[in-house]
Amino acid sequence: MSAELRTNIAVVGAGPAGLAAAHAALAQGADVTLIDDNPSPGGQIWRGTGLARGPNVKQARLLASTRVVAAPQAGSLLLESMNEGQVLRYRRLVVATGARERMLPFPGWTLPGVTGAGGLQALVKGGLDVRGQRAVLAGSGPLLLAAAAVLQQAGAQVVLIAEQVSAAALARFAWALRAYPDKLMQAVALRWSLRAVPYHSHAHVLEAVGDERVRGVRIQHGERIREIACDWLGVGFGLIPNTELPQALGCDVAHGAAVVDALVHTSVAGVYAPGEACGIGGVDKAQLEGRIAGLAAAGADDAARALVPRRAPQLRFASLLQKHFALRPELLQTLRPDTLICRCEDVSHAQLSQFDSSREAKLLTRCGMGACQARMCGPICADLYGWVVDGHRPPLQPARLATLMSEPSNHDRKGVQPS
Ligand SMILES: Cc1cc2nc3c(=O)[nH]c(=O)nc-3n(C[C@H](O)[C@H](O)[C@H](O)COP(=O)(O)OP(=O)(O)OC[C@H]3O[C@@H](n4cnc5c(N)ncnc54)[C@H](O)[C@@H]3O)c2cc1C
Repeated sequence: MSAELRTNIAVVGAGPAGLAAAHAALAQGADVTLIDDNPSPGGQIWRGTGLARGPNVKQARLLASTRVVAAPQAGSLLLESMNEGQVLRYRRLVVATGARERMLPFPGWTLPGVTGAGGLQALVKGGLDVRGQRAVLAGSGPLLLAAAAVLQQAGAQVVLIAEQVSAAALARFAWALRAYPDKLMQAVALRWSLRAVPYHSHAHVLEAVGDERVRGVRIQHGERIREIACDWLGVGFGLIPNTELPQALGCDVAHGAAVVDALVHTSVAGVYAPGEACGIGGVDKAQLEGRIAGLAAAGADDAARALVPRRAPQLRFASLLQKHFALRPELLQTLRPDTLICRCEDVSHAQLSQFDSSREAKLLTRCGMGACQARMCGPICADLYGWVVDGHRPPLQPARLATLMSEPSNHDRKGVQPS
């Protein structure tokens, strides 16, 4: 393990929220270290183009391809890169860890060629060649349109977008968007660019069909069921905040998101959680909250407070997303007994249905103990069986033994004393 690193402000996550936080703190003269597990900044939306599209953070120390794997004691993080484990000591911490896709299982969802909708978009942005291939996007929320547009631009034939909510819910959402002219214009432009693609509301996936890989999908559209041939199926039901690190730090989490105050400060002293980590609301919310967090972490509370009124409309937009894209209960009823729920450990719906709690299921089936550490199956089990998982044990992600052995020995996680 290399020497311990020290910084005034550590920012975990170089997406729009983390970049905005780093920029705002740097402008106050703070010493900032930015950590992200991707090779370059940008987060989910800008994917590696963050330095070109986000604010200037060149003065920050950037630890790319580096993951935070544990928060072993107040004021320190355990990091792992390709080559080494490192301890980073900080005075203030901005946790801008973003979100991941919400997945729901259905028969055939583990077939090659079936991914998340945002996951498929990410693969294409990463260079997957989909020219001339047929793709179906299904699930819920605005990400379906964004993903479809990226696939179409990359030369795929998007044969269908299946949105689970009703036409009435979509109309109400569109009407509410009039309070957000920029977002409305973006949505209209996106829909116009996809005008040749059928877009069905009140439609959901019943089953992905195929042997070696997906070759089609059965979709329920209202009362009708039909099978559509495809080479790729991307299914996602909105986003879930990444709260593993806030939870490891001891921050309060409610309704699946880090609890923050007006300055996006968590319940743990010196720890801020801007962006999707404190609630799903899109890139504008993430950037604004990142600026607030960066200013507050650097001690510029008055400047941070001056931005707080701008947060209210972003929070209202977040509520609109939640309200108008709520899941229809029948989406949880496509499962068969042999449908896998925990794909890392191959645990089926029939096996899990016998248990009353995630703890019991974990002990007897290893559900949630595989490579994803319950990132995927944890929320699914909450949806299907009502299981509550409180807290996560370190490491937050699979890590090398050598890294874990380099943890500082003091395990006090109470909080960071502000400088
Ligand atoms: C798959 C996907 C695709 C999306 N596509 C679009 C789109 O096309 N258009 C759109 O408007 N919105 C999209 N979004 C939503 C978009 O991400 C948000 O609106 C907003 O950009 C979130 O900003 P953020 O900074 O809060 O988080 P993010 O952009 O998610 O950034 C968080 C960063 O933290 C890193 N991170 C997390 N945990 C750790 C850790 N332990 N150690 C180190 N690094 C860590 C992540 O890798 C990521 O780079 C997408 C979301 C997802 C999940």
